[in-house]
Amino acid sequence: MKELLLIPGPTPVNGTVLEALSQETISHVSDKFVDIFKSAHNKVKILFGAKDSMPFIIAGSGTLGMEMALTNILDDNESLLVISHGFFGDRFVELGTALGLKVDILKAKPGEAVSLEEISKKLRSKYYSAITVTHVDTSTGALADIAKIAEVIKRESSDTIIVIDGVCATGGVEEKMDEWGLDVIFTGSQKAIATPPGLTMLAFSKRAIERRKTLKKTRTYYGDILRWIPIVEDPRKYFATPAVNMVFALEKSLREIIDSGLKDYFEKHNLLSRKIRNSMAILGFELLSKNSPAPTLSVFKYPDGVNDDGFRKLLGEKGVVVASALGEMKGKYFRMGHMGSLTEEELFIALKRIIEVLEEMGIKVNKGEVLEVFVES
Ligand code: PMP
Repeated sequence: MKELLLIPGPTPVNGTVLEALSQETISHVSDKFVDIFKSAHNKVKILFGAKDSMPFIIAGSGTLGMEMALTNILDDNESLLVISHGFFGDRFVELGTALGLKVDILKAKPGEAVSLEEISKKLRSKYYSAITVTHVDTSTGALADIAKIAEVIKRESSDTIIVIDGVCATGGVEEKMDEWGLDVIFTGSQKAIATPPGLTMLAFSKRAIERRKTLKKTRTYYGDILRWIPIVEDPRKYFATPAVNMVFALEKSLREIIDSGLKDYFEKHNLLSRKIRNSMAILGFELLSKNSPAPTLSVFKYPDGVNDDGFRKLLGEKGVVVASALGEMKGKYFRMGHMGSLTEEELFIALKRIIEVLEEMGIKVNKGEVLEVFVES
């Protein structure tokens, strides 16, 4: 039986994408690769809603995307405001501090989102060169309203560069980089885009590229966008060897997603998240992020009598892999990804396995009602 990988990344990869990945490796400056690389860059732009911004596809994980975002727009000692909805927001604080920036943080309670009023107040109190917001924080399942946050930032501090971490959102939630006025956005290959881990995709606005050009120095060599821009403009040029096979896989997956309709893909994520949340509620699992739930993953609190290790172990033995919670939620909650190539049928199977596990743990379950709620939601 195929394992159902329902952790919030990496996510299951379709056979067609694995086939693309396993093609013969070819020269990174061959016509064939150059065409595919160009096509992948164009598709990354579509994904981010980035007509006038420049896309980058770089070998490395999402954390490289975070690092490239900051090292390309900030000089030593500049001020950074981090809007944190959990573990991955906090990572920007660590990163900014390691880079010698002056970092302030606005942090929400687990599962909640920082309010627009708080952001507005903070921006009035001090000038920040840049602000980071995590679109979906993978530790809490909180979805940030990027359009509204960007509006507030533009109103209060129009020079502040806006950086969005889309690692657990892009592809599963709509992002309109240019329309919303975002400056830098990045994601990883291994979540809603349903490609193996290994690539970070970014886009920089014209303003962000100008920022890079005015920096006194940059603390990155490999991640310097000025070294990558010539490659984006003409993939025949060489700076550092692109991950040829990963680009095959990414291009294939993006082609499938875009050809079958990006809007439908977002809608699928909404539908699956609604179905699983409603069903799990009947089973007594409380959602951490009630007010702003993400369509890509859910963080569920165990009902009384269900222990974390036992639940995840039994479920794993039935071929369904979910993730432990992070930080203060560890042991009391678990995380379930429902993004990428996952189908309604697969999620339904996962729900049935969860019911079986609960029954084995001696919990009384109204199975018929739960399954009906899934189907009807
Ligand atoms: N940001 C978010 C929102 C994430 O979920 C993750 C990974 N889970 C990262 C950044 C870091 O990405 P990676 O693990 O690919 O370095």
